[in-house]
Amino acid sequence: MALNSHSFRLAGRGSKPGDTVIDVGGVRIGGAMVVLMAGPCAVENEKQIIAAARGVRDAGAHILRGGAFKPRTSPYTFRGLGKEGLKLLALARKETGLPVVTEVMTPHDVGIVAEHSDILQVGSRNMQNFHLLEEVGRSRKPVLLKRGFAATIEEWLFAAEYILAQDNPNVMICERGIRTFETQTRNTLDLTAVALVRQLTHLPVIADPSHASGRRDLVPALALASIAAGAQGLLIEVHPDPDSALSDGHQSLSCEGFAAAVGQIERLAACLGRPLHPRLAETQTSWTR
Ligand code: PEP
Ligand code: MN
Repeated sequence: MALNSHSFRLAGRGSKPGDTVIDVGGVRIGGAMVVLMAGPCAVENEKQIIAAARGVRDAGAHILRGGAFKPRTSPYTFRGLGKEGLKLLALARKETGLPVVTEVMTPHDVGIVAEHSDILQVGSRNMQNFHLLEEVGRSRKPVLLKRGFAATIEEWLFAAEYILAQDNPNVMICERGIRTFETQTRNTLDLTAVALVRQLTHLPVIADPSHASGRRDLVPALALASIAAGAQGLLIEVHPDPDSALSDGHQSLSCEGFAAAVGQIERLAACLGRPLHPRLAETQTSWTR
């Protein structure tokens, strides 16, 4: 049966016709303005995360991303710095004023990740980890819920419902590509889903063109297409030296590449009447100023 705005008790537009706007340290996510979240796949060391944070901030990003707990396909690859990575993210936030989004993988870590960050990311592989969803719900922190790479739109929005049902209204959802028959790209960016969830839910909709494509040469085009389809924000991997990245370097933009993409995004967003959110230096952030 076709989904409609009454299919989801809390996430559906049937329960709240206007868009949800989540204020994260002065950044308003989900309104008419486009928000940019950018940074490396993983926090690797102090020098790298500070360079990334400064680079993305200077290019116009509003939120810093970076993984401390990394879900990796192979257990023999870099799996993140864990708690040390969280401390470095908090340091980068202090240095730049950018709020931080980072992944939490287990219910047990929700407290410590919440202490060091501003938005809790639930990754694609954990989209239906129902105990994790309930725990991030109970934390009342803003949550970025990525779509499972094999999840239907219905399953994805019901996952959001688990978080909302814990009395946490601060949920944003992120399309990050789904697995299809195609082998030339890591995943397939489901732009149809972006347009459809904008109709179905009042929650902010973010798109991640980096994990969707797995190729840095495709990221700017998919970022633009996501905005055109209605995404209210982008999550983009950026590394000061992508070729030396410990994870996802092939899909990461350099800081210069990101700055160039932001120029294009800014022009498109203005054309669509949904301009870029003002830069952080022009807004008030609660922890630095
Ligand atoms: C990430 O954002 O680094 C990540 C692991 O994303 P996903 O869960 O979408 O694979
Ligand atoms: Mn990654």
